Amino acid sequence: MNRSVGSEGSGPPVATSVGAVREAVRRARGEGRTIGFVPTMGALHAGHTSLIEAAKRDGHWTVVSIYVNPTQFGPNEDFNKYPRTLDADLAACRSAGADLVFAPDNAEMYPPDDQTRVIPGPLAATMCGLNRLGHFAGVCTVVAKLFNIVLPDAAYFGQKDAQQAVIIERMVRDLLMPLRIVVCPLVREADGLAMSSRNARLTPEQRTQALCLYRALCAGRDRLLAGEQSTGRLIAGMRAVIMETNPTIGIDYLSIVEPRTLASIASPRGRVMLAGAIRLGDVRLIDNLLVDLPER
Ligand code: AMP
Repeated sequence: MNRSVGSEGSGPPVATSVGAVREAVRRARGEGRTIGFVPTMGALHAGHTSLIEAAKRDGHWTVVSIYVNPTQFGPNEDFNKYPRTLDADLAACRSAGADLVFAPDNAEMYPPDDQTRVIPGPLAATMCGLNRLGHFAGVCTVVAKLFNIVLPDAAYFGQKDAQQAVIIERMVRDLLMPLRIVVCPLVREADGLAMSSRNARLTPEQRTQALCLYRALCAGRDRLLAGEQSTGRLIAGMRAVIMETNPTIGIDYLSIVEPRTLASIASPRGRVMLAGAIRLGDVRLIDNLLVDLPER
């Protein structure tokens, strides 16, 4: 293991093998530490580091995995184009206080004879699951493997990927995995765009237009809070915000759902989630807002 990074001091140790992670975690536990875990695909930004900082705040010896997981990408998706910035990522892990980085290769995670998959239930058959067949099975499989390698007390996920967080919480419950899932707030750029590793793939023009998803969700939220009860009209209004920005933007979905079950809502009350996914060229972006409706 042990590769250091950067010129201004040593970074966290980097393990590339399952055995090296297990040994380092065993040692940390021997020193009485609890283990926090932050799974990522790298190209780290402030959304990711907020998860590392949350794990550190909770007092954990914190492992960050950096692995672009091939099984969660469809054949026509951006696996090959996904940004890979390991040196900058290690510097970000160091600043955020990570204790160990796990950066395996595909052979370590999926040996040639690997064949078992973790298949989620109906929570994966809506929203992003409709446009990304098999995506959440790939996510659940790699996260289950990573949990079995790191054996964390708590794992930290972002509200940015709200459906993923709900599905992982369900997997942990259904498969009786002995750890706590902590979901941390969505971190945005100054103008409101949800931080995403994929934002780096946007042209300057697309970057400007990308904000329309957040603006659409905000418009939906504002109309909802102003008393609009028809989810059909709310979604049509959100769609219009995107189309007015650029009619060639692809809309994978715009939904108003119950945040725990992800079920579509007919008459909004209590806490609801507005969520959407758009495509600018071949860059797919997601975002969501949680809205608490006042009692009527
Ligand atoms: P990824 O590297 O995109 O697989 O994301 C790794 C983790 O970081 C996931 O739990 C994401 O939900 C979380 N994450 C990504 N972007 C953000 C963001 N803007 N705010 C909060 N968490 C995020």
